[in-house]
Amino acid sequence: MRLGERVAALTADGLVLDDGRAIAADLVPWVTGAAAHPWLARGLPELPPLPCDDRGFVQIDDDLQVMGCPGLFAAGDCAVLRSWPQIPKAGVFAVREGPVLWANLQAAAAGGRLENYQPQRDFLTLLNLGDGRALGLRNGFALSGAWVMALKDRIDRRFMARFQVLDSEGGTDTDYGRQMPVMDESAMVCGGCAAKVGQDPLAGALQRLGARPDPDLVLGLERPDDVAALRRGGELLVTSIDAFPAFLDDPWLVGQVAAHNALSDLLAKGVAPRLALALVSVPEDADPEELLFQVLSGIRGVLDAAGVSLAGGHSTVGPRLEVGLSITGFCPDDGRLMTKAGLQPGDRLVLTRPLGTGVLLHADMAGRAAGPWIAQVIAGMTQGNGRAAAIARDQGVLAATDVTGFGLAGHAAELSRASGLPLHLNLGALPALPGALTLLRQGERSTFHEQNRRGLRGIELARPPASPEEAALLELAFDPQTAGGLLLGVPAGQVDALIRALRQAGIGDATPIGYAGADRSARSPLHLEWEF
Ligand SMILES: Cc1cc2nc3c(=O)[nH]c(=O)nc-3n(C[C@H](O)[C@H](O)[C@H](O)COP(=O)(O)OP(=O)(O)OC[C@H]3O[C@@H](n4cnc5c(N)ncnc54)[C@H](O)[C@@H]3O)c2cc1C
Repeated sequence: MRLGERVAALTADGLVLDDGRAIAADLVPWVTGAAAHPWLARGLPELPPLPCDDRGFVQIDDDLQVMGCPGLFAAGDCAVLRSWPQIPKAGVFAVREGPVLWANLQAAAAGGRLENYQPQRDFLTLLNLGDGRALGLRNGFALSGAWVMALKDRIDRRFMARFQVLDSEGGTDTDYGRQMPVMDESAMVCGGCAAKVGQDPLAGALQRLGARPDPDLVLGLERPDDVAALRRGGELLVTSIDAFPAFLDDPWLVGQVAAHNALSDLLAKGVAPRLALALVSVPEDADPEELLFQVLSGIRGVLDAAGVSLAGGHSTVGPRLEVGLSITGFCPDDGRLMTKAGLQPGDRLVLTRPLGTGVLLHADMAGRAAGPWIAQVIAGMTQGNGRAAAIARDQGVLAATDVTGFGLAGHAAELSRASGLPLHLNLGALPALPGALTLLRQGERSTFHEQNRRGLRGIELARPPASPEEAALLELAFDPQTAGGLLLGVPAGQVDALIRALRQAGIGDATPIGYAGADRSARSPLHLEWEF
């Protein structure tokens, strides 16, 4: 055994010591201890040097505050406790400092009392010896053998299984499923645009209500669309309202998505939004000022960028956070409104954004969705439809709707009914968010999914799905979308130019997914096919 020697170089055959002696070796493990970041002792432009020990680790008091710096905390490997400088840099200490750090950060912010961290005296060390045995050390006693390795293996696997959410296929790992408390599906009601009343009950209620004709209404209950539009002189006043329960635990983000979602109705008609009113329902147990501030900040961020004034609104107290917006805009009454009724036979259908937000957000509630999948969902929901709508209008598109709670199939059926033409959708071409098809294959469904499916009893399916992959694509058509993309109808000769323009503007997922048929007497509004 050689101790205290400096290694000068590694070679293919081993290593060379400082004094030039070569030592042959088949394998050279390079083992180091923890080292401190130099900037802790050196300081940064915006941070003065911190008190550090002679190895460069930040010195902290028992309450984890940096010595002499109230309100500044350090924990884990970067820190050294003034009262316990000898404790090693090990995860067991870092992990147990965590709850104390969290409690003290909250206490410091609220002006409360800080608690002290008391390190454990000793801990079990288990080292894999690489030959089927392990070495165990606790309270000064050492033991080794295969059974120690078996113990280590069991402890390690149990620990790692706590974090093993998804298997290699992206499905929920069964061990994780066993350890997690079974989620009460009734408590997992989706928020966002998946929380709405189905098309059938809505149609039934409106039918019972009866019509009240208004000659100035261009779009309204008798000619339903994403917005209401009222003729006034040579202009149209265009307005809409949208609301949903929070579906994420970040109220600022909920405000952002609510604003994008509400603006989308006017944008889908090619109308520039101008004015907004907000309706926010705050849960009884929340700090109302802070929550309202967070939600409205999110809303304002989106509206300000779109040149829309938030001019007022209304707040209520309710069981959960709900956010809604009414948006108003004006446009010339020149017949260029992009409506649901604007489709012509042969028009191609273009979808600007991939589908799957409903199933992904539902899985996320149960911890069954991978982080990167949800990051993509959020990126999509906060993208807005402004650019896509402007491009569609420039390209002369006259038929459009935004895809939200009723899913692609539901909103496509609305286009079909309004235009009086059957629509043919190519299920094989539907773009999906990462993870959406995996989850649908596993049977994951958003709360509103089955309602969407029921609402479309009359659809015609070219043939039943021939594989689990096809079955998932069929379900994707019914997945409710929150702040989804636009479904555009464009003359066949212009579809390539539209797709090119959308993709050049960074809307890379824009995809042709179908066409409007010519048979106005077709029994079904929707024909779902597998390829064209
Ligand atoms: C190979 C290995 C095996 C180990 N095995 C064990 C073991 O079996 N048992 C045990 O108890 N301990 C073990 N440890 C020690 C244990 O991992 C550490 O003590 C523990 O991770 C320290 O936790 P920490 O949160 O302080 O630091 P870390 O876990 O190192 O976390 C620090 C985080 O800060 C990030 N970061 C660094 N600089 C910046 C910056 N400038 N800006 C933003 N982020 C930054 C890093 O990316 C990192 O994510 C092991 C360590 C190693 C390296």
